[in-house]
Amino acid sequence: MDQKIHSFFSPNRVLFGIGASREIGKEAKALGGTKVLIVTDSGVVNSGLVASLRTNLEEAGMKGFLFDRVEPEPSASLVDESAQLAKENGVDVVIGVGGGSSLDIAKGASLLASNPGNVLDYCGLDLIPKRGLPKILVPTTAGTGSEVTRVFVLTDKRDNMKKVVFSNYAIPELALVDPMLTISMPSKVTADTGMDALVHAIETYVSMNATPFSDLLASKAIELIARYLPMAFAKGENIEARYHMSLASLLAGMAFASGGLGAVHALAYPLGTEYHLPHGRTNAIMLPHVMEFNSIGNRSRYALIAEMMGKREVTIDLRAGVAKAVEAVIQLLDDVQIPYYLKDYGIPKEAIPKLVEGGMRQARLFVPNPRDLRKEDVEAIYTKAW
Ligand code: NAD
Repeated sequence: MDQKIHSFFSPNRVLFGIGASREIGKEAKALGGTKVLIVTDSGVVNSGLVASLRTNLEEAGMKGFLFDRVEPEPSASLVDESAQLAKENGVDVVIGVGGGSSLDIAKGASLLASNPGNVLDYCGLDLIPKRGLPKILVPTTAGTGSEVTRVFVLTDKRDNMKKVVFSNYAIPELALVDPMLTISMPSKVTADTGMDALVHAIETYVSMNATPFSDLLASKAIELIARYLPMAFAKGENIEARYHMSLASLLAGMAFASGGLGAVHALAYPLGTEYHLPHGRTNAIMLPHVMEFNSIGNRSRYALIAEMMGKREVTIDLRAGVAKAVEAVIQLLDDVQIPYYLKDYGIPKEAIPKLVEGGMRQARLFVPNPRDLRKEDVEAIYTKAW
């Protein structure tokens, strides 16, 4: 039994299930909505996902405004632009529809519509003074888990660095998770976002800040992703696979909201900002390499991950267990056709020093990581990953 006192961040309310998105009008109205701002991106709009939600909102008597200019790895300025649109039109509820990029900008828009200044003033821990407009987050990827976390991630274009706002006010009033909205994801997006959810679950499970609550959520998420991600990748219309991937992503989001992330994210961020690779892809690339490095910090947990991922024959020899966990991750990456070496993405070996610099700037994420990292270690991991 551990002696720590644990904190668990729970979402306000989650509405989960096939067809849950049909409740959007009723739910927005219950939050006092008369004028709603939908924050999304053009890809999600083109997939036809926004039109039916908008109709549903209008049928419930609400006027809808659309901000569809979100981009992957969104820049902080999008928060200020969308918040401005909310203020100009007297919006009373913000609805984020999309992947983590859209959900994060929706969080920011809701908060900046009620707080002064620029969103970059609020990067850091609990700096936002006032609760924002009520918000509903509707994920269309599975995924970031952003619909249940108290963080949002922005790219600061001034120094090309990912910055994070932590605030309890970022937790939405409602996470509305309908697996049917993920069916239109192309297989590549399915693979990248599914691996992102796996990284959340694995990093949390081995984190120094893991809690009894995050353990339960993370272990279930790992098990579900190992089983259902290949199926969702193979057949986008497989509703059973989509259902379990949406659930897994939600559970992994709830897990890391309390348990924290680690070195995979720290070393992945520079790949996103320097080479514009999708967030989930960068995490997926770094995962097996960081697992190998980290493993001596918590062999027994990594061995358990092997079991969760279907390698049930290992329990006694912990080193063998760790190797099986890495093998399971690599097999999953192969299944969903994600190469996990930097050179496969045209990244030159000469880029490593810059990546090391970027990784070291995310050193806050080394604190919960199960093994300490010095600059030499970061360099060695990138070199191995190359
Ligand atoms: P994304 O939101 O950038 O979307 C990726 C692409 O997929 C976009 O082109 C989008 O149009 C398309 N897409 C999304 N859903 C679709 C659907 N159902 N059908 C067809 N196309 C669809 O990708 P993401 O991986 O979900 O989000 C990444 C962002 O989330 C990053 O900025 C990352 O930093 C952030 N993030 C936030 C948290 C958090 O807790 N706040 C956690 C993890 C990641």
